[in-house]
This record gives sequence, structure tokens and C-alpha cells, in this order.
Amino acid sequence: MTARGGNLKGQYQSEIFFCDLCQGRQFQVVYRLDGFQVIRCRQCNLISTNLALKKPDLEAMYAAPYYQQRRDYYFQNCVTNRAVISENTNIRDFREGLSLIERYKSKGKLLDVGCAIGVFLCLARERGWEVCGVDVSRYAAAYARDVFGLDVFAGELQEAPFPNRHFDVITLWDVLEHFPDPSRQLQVTHRVLKDDGIVLMNTPNEGGLLRLLAGTIFRLSGGKISYPVQKLYHSFHLHYFTQRTLQALLAKNGFSLLQLQKRHIPIIKARGRSIERLIVKTLSVPELLCRREFELLAIARKRG
Ligand SMILES: [Zn+2]
Repeated sequence: MTARGGNLKGQYQSEIFFCDLCQGRQFQVVYRLDGFQVIRCRQCNLISTNLALKKPDLEAMYAAPYYQQRRDYYFQNCVTNRAVISENTNIRDFREGLSLIERYKSKGKLLDVGCAIGVFLCLARERGWEVCGVDVSRYAAAYARDVFGLDVFAGELQEAPFPNRHFDVITLWDVLEHFPDPSRQLQVTHRVLKDDGIVLMNTPNEGGLLRLLAGTIFRLSGGKISYPVQKLYHSFHLHYFTQRTLQALLAKNGFSLLQLQKRHIPIIKARGRSIERLIVKTLSVPELLCRREFELLAIARKRG
């Protein structure tokens, strides 16, 4: 993007990068961070990073070290470790997600895109779903197959040999923000879903209170206090959605929204020091009061 674009006074016009949602080419730079910029489309307000332009090496990004650095989240729960008896907040979220899906579809074929080591798929299988997964990480896909006996394709969704109109339900837990091309991914999702199929996805809420506070601190300090923003905008997440831009993305790609919820982040997902986790937990009360929770969860139906 920097090679052929122009960057003048915080505005960005690019010849080669366009907005995933509206194809606009004019952007406002929101944050200049360590190694990348967070930019806002001037036409539709979608927030992206300029890293979305580069073709990331997904296999390298999500190799074994990614999972080992998030060991508590992936490996210390009641699915992956029998010694853990209680359900953590993320497992509860997965079970609630299944209950939401089951309001619209009782049973059938369920695909989890970005299934990681297969924790959600195990929970869905327990409830009678016929499950399979796809993940770019060969490490995670092998773990899901070897440890849980799951059917998981290692690679990108568009590379998987799924027939058209095959699945009753497709879930995308914490993956939409990782794609360089979320519209294309939703188009493939649309193709492999049955005509009345259901999609569930969650993603960080760009309108969340924590982001609002981090941005305010960044601006009031003239960019000197960037730590909170650096924690919230990082190189693994390439797009950030508000309620409005997520709704627009779904509508553009052939889905009718059934439900859009704002939710707290499961605290097990909030990586960082104890004090940071405490701040996240404490903010859950004002988040709720001003309806600016950390995550968005959408359920939508495929339009014919
Ligand atoms: Zn746009």
C-alpha cells in the first residue's frame, strides 16, 4: 500500500488497496502503530489495517507457537483437559452459541471455519451435530484430527473440497477479523451453505467501550500513550467491525440478519497481565450500561 499510495496529513488514497466492504479507495489514518497503520474507509467507515493488503503467510502465523502462547485458552478447559472440571467463560459462550443456533436449526451438518484445535466442534458433536472443520493451521488441524478424531481440512475455506449447498450451519468464531478478504470468505460461506442455512459469527466490537477509552487516551496524549491501543489493534486482526459495518457486510454478501448481540469478552480470551484482565472485567459493568460491550455476535440466514 505504501508503495503506490499517497499519504498526506493523515489521509490516504490508494491505487491498489480498496475497502473490503464498499470498494472505496480513500482512507483516514486513525492510528500509526508499531509497523502498521489503522485506517478508516472515508465512504463506509470500515476500520482496517494496511496489513490487509499484504498476502499474509497464514500457515506460518498460526503454527504451533501461536497456540503455545495461548496455552491457557486452548488447552486448559474442560474439553482439552479432563482435569479441568468447571466450564470457563469461553466454553459457556460456545454452548450458548449452540443454543442460539438450535432456535433456527435443530440438527444437521455443521462446519466451523477457523476451528483451531476443535474445541467448539467437540461441543457441537456432543449435541448431535454432524461436524467438520477447516483451519489454515496444519498444526491445529492435525491436533483436532489426532486428539479428537475430528474431520478437519487444513487450508483456506476456498481450497476445501466442499460441495455447494452442503452445510446447514457454518460458524466463524473469532475469525472474521483475521481474514484479509472477509467479503470473499463470506461469499464462499454462502456458496457451501444450504439455501436456508444459518451462519453464526463473532468478532470484536469496534464500537466497544474499551476501544473508545483507548482511542481517547491516545488522542488526548498526542499519541504518546499508545499501549492500550497497541493491545487492542494488533497484526493478527486486519478488519474491525461496528454493528453497522458488520450488518452491511452480511447484507452485501447475501445474508439476512436474524440476531445481533453485543457481548462481554470471555475473560479467558483477554490476554495480558492480571491488572489488564482486572480492568477488562471491571469495565464489563459500564460496558453493559452504555451498550458498548467488547464483542459482536451475529446470526444470519442465507438469502436465496
Ligand atoms: Zn468502505
